[in-house]
Amino acid sequence: MSTATAKMNDRVARIAAINIAVALTVVTLKYIAYAVSGSVALFSDALESIVNVMTAVAAYSAIRLSAKPADADHPFGHYKAEFLAAMFEGAMIAVAALLILIKAYSGIVNGVEFEHPGLGLAINVLSTVINAAWAWSMIRRGTEWRSPALVADGQHLFTDVITSVGVVVGLTVAILTGWYFLDPLIAAVVALHILFVGYRIATESMSRLMDQAASPEIEGRIRGVIEANGHGALEAHDIRTRQAGRALFIEFHLVVPGSMSVDDAHVICDRLEDAIERSIIGSEVVIHVEPEYKAKPEESGAVPL
Ligand code: ZN
Ligand code: ZN
Repeated sequence: MSTATAKMNDRVARIAAINIAVALTVVTLKYIAYAVSGSVALFSDALESIVNVMTAVAAYSAIRLSAKPADADHPFGHYKAEFLAAMFEGAMIAVAALLILIKAYSGIVNGVEFEHPGLGLAINVLSTVINAAWAWSMIRRGTEWRSPALVADGQHLFTDVITSVGVVVGLTVAILTGWYFLDPLIAAVVALHILFVGYRIATESMSRLMDQAASPEIEGRIRGVIEANGHGALEAHDIRTRQAGRALFIEFHLVVPGSMSVDDAHVICDRLEDAIERSIIGSEVVIHVEPEYKAKPEESGAVPL
């Protein structure tokens, strides 16, 4: 790992740690808001925040664990820890949604009784403001450090802020109009939203666990770097990529004149490997060398050099 990568890891890990503290504060406030008000909608909002605590903890441990260098029994590193964390998260989210639905159902059937709804609302608004400020700061830092993961976390938190605003508005209407049945209905909507988020997190991490290829944009960049640094070789083909967390494994065949010495071919390989690994942070390249009769037509995706 380069020092620049290590430094970035430390910064991201620090943000992830603060993220846990913020999530814990917010969930405590939101639970108090539910406890003093008795509102099912505020209960659902608090449970949504518990999901954020778990997300924050999972993200932190994944960053720590995947930064662990490769060792004898994990020669390709520990990057996939991130996906296991995400799948666990998806499962926990489903549990949270189920708990809300049960409470919402009983609220619809038996009716709800509010205790101090105004106080509950006020506390919830306070925690929502904290969440919004933190989400904004994560998006800003993520953009500045060019960390898509951080930006995504901030954006996810921001959708929660929007849910909370919806809960607050809905609950205010319920209190003002006396239509208390709105309260468990809002909670049910929040539960469905949480289920949807959980489904997306779980399916995304599953497809990545299955050795998903790099995005077309990254593949294009790889081809560009090969073109710019492959002089001396004839062609590159069978470019395959596989993502594992923040690591990207890249392999391809490099066709060179059959009479070229191993020394010369190795110089080209090292040059290509260095150039790609410098251009795509977190990538690891392996090249297989072949003589010219193994060349493939350009239509098959080969890069002529
Ligand atoms: Zn080949
Ligand atoms: Zn070498």
